[in-house]
Amino acid sequence: MAQAYLNYIGGQWVPSSSGQTFESRNPANPADSLGSFQKSTPKDMKEAIDAAERAYPDWSRMPPPKRGEILLKAAELLRQNKHRLGQLVTREMGKQIKEGLGDVQEAIDIAEYVAGEGRRLYGHTTTSELPDKFCMTIRRPVGIAGLITPWNFPIAIPAWKLLMALICGNSVVLKPSSDTPLCAIELVKILDQAGVPKGVVNLVAGSGSELGDALVMDPRVRVVSFTGSKAVAEHVIRSAGLKKVGIESGGKNAIIVMDDADLLLAVDGVVWGAFGTTGQRCTACSRVIIHQKVQKAFEKMLLDRLRKLKVGDGMACDVGPLVNQQALDKVAKYVEIGKSQGAKLLCGGRPIKKAGYFFELTVFTNVKPSMRIAQEEIFGPVLSIIPVVSFEEAVRVCNNTEYGLSSAIYTADINKAFKAMEHIETGITYLNSSTIGAEVHLPFGGVKGTGNGTREAGIEGIHEFSETKTVYVDYSGKLQKAQIDTVEAKRMAGHAGSKKRVKR
Ligand code: NAD
Repeated sequence: MAQAYLNYIGGQWVPSSSGQTFESRNPANPADSLGSFQKSTPKDMKEAIDAAERAYPDWSRMPPPKRGEILLKAAELLRQNKHRLGQLVTREMGKQIKEGLGDVQEAIDIAEYVAGEGRRLYGHTTTSELPDKFCMTIRRPVGIAGLITPWNFPIAIPAWKLLMALICGNSVVLKPSSDTPLCAIELVKILDQAGVPKGVVNLVAGSGSELGDALVMDPRVRVVSFTGSKAVAEHVIRSAGLKKVGIESGGKNAIIVMDDADLLLAVDGVVWGAFGTTGQRCTACSRVIIHQKVQKAFEKMLLDRLRKLKVGDGMACDVGPLVNQQALDKVAKYVEIGKSQGAKLLCGGRPIKKAGYFFELTVFTNVKPSMRIAQEEIFGPVLSIIPVVSFEEAVRVCNNTEYGLSSAIYTADINKAFKAMEHIETGITYLNSSTIGAEVHLPFGGVKGTGNGTREAGIEGIHEFSETKTVYVDYSGKLQKAQIDTVEAKRMAGHAGSKKRVKR
């Protein structure tokens, strides 16, 4: 009998009003159930928002350094539980165990980062155009934050959003992915244990299509932070209306390998970028744009490396499964599209026949930039190699997608590296390393179809979850008028006064 997990609303673990549940299963072994979870309703969502509304005044007024102390305690608890939680990430989502532990480490990093932010949350001071007047900005919480998260970083992404929202003084309702509800529940339990007051964090499990609108469209929710697919992102942004909305969506990330690159290093970066997390990272490398002169040598080295990798349960193998049957079917469909559009299959291309959602590590070569496998997000272990003849062509091909999240270039030429940094249209560019590997104290996000221009993490994450308030302090003791009490107006007044005196 699967263990039953409840929603967390107002500091209580409660069942859904639907009376129904769904299961979360290990993608490496679908017979292994992690438990049953609440199939929640819009009524449950409303109750969670009610609870967040009740908790907001006290939490938002707590001095930020005190909030920081609680979040630092959460960092300690995450560290104590890192091994257990890392294994849970692998069991629930499938990624290789070192990456499962990395997922938890990212949550620890962000908790420590925001704890320190509690003593900063900087605004700025500046001058006034009027005498005896002081001007500054301060940061204020936004209100209730609605967080919607995907499954591919089942602890790290909820942690990025939750902890940033909390340090800024918001109360929160989290709707985690239905593929990884247990990881989110374990994170929420740690926040509770660390001392986050009841009602400040609420979690409602269930289907995004049934719960999303109830969260995003509730007028009391003032900031929505969404990470997921482009199609759902567009729906969320339409429904959110005039709220603050942070969107982190898909990618079609490329690594450019120039003819002067260190090929061994480039192969390392490509293997890690394309097949780490089974290609299921928003920053995964799904295109290699390679200078024709080194294409053959690079392909040989890449295939030698891939032959040594073992696909299987992430607890024991190098590359884990896809997250579910739907993801496996999607990858298989794209392989057929690649073949039918004339790309040459270098290796892989088939599901692996064992329990679990495993797919062979797949590489296409001589891919044309316009082919669908070079344009659309596949989100699996499929890499397209696109040959080019110059740096300029490489950058053009790199930019030729609707997305703009991450990119990388391998080159020994400093001029090309700096040109790439400026000319590639992505939110993140790596020089001589892979497309993945974000650090929490730097902003994370993309341009073009990847998002709406907001950034998570770093100081820009603080901006996502706080409002700027501008404050003017007038200590002149009289009414002063900006734009009206100008130097010229004073001169005119003086002039008029002297004319009057002359008349008399
Ligand atoms: P998804 O869009 O299917 O689901 C994301 C979340 O949205 C889930 O919690 C889901 O339940 C919810 N949802 C579904 N329908 C909804 C609706 N109508 N209204 C509101 N919420 C709804 O995405 P996924 O499969 O979980 O994740 C994979 C996608 O996420 C990929 O496209 C990947 O690139 C993207 N991603 C982006 C980043 C980034 O930072 N840019 C990071 C990780 C993943």
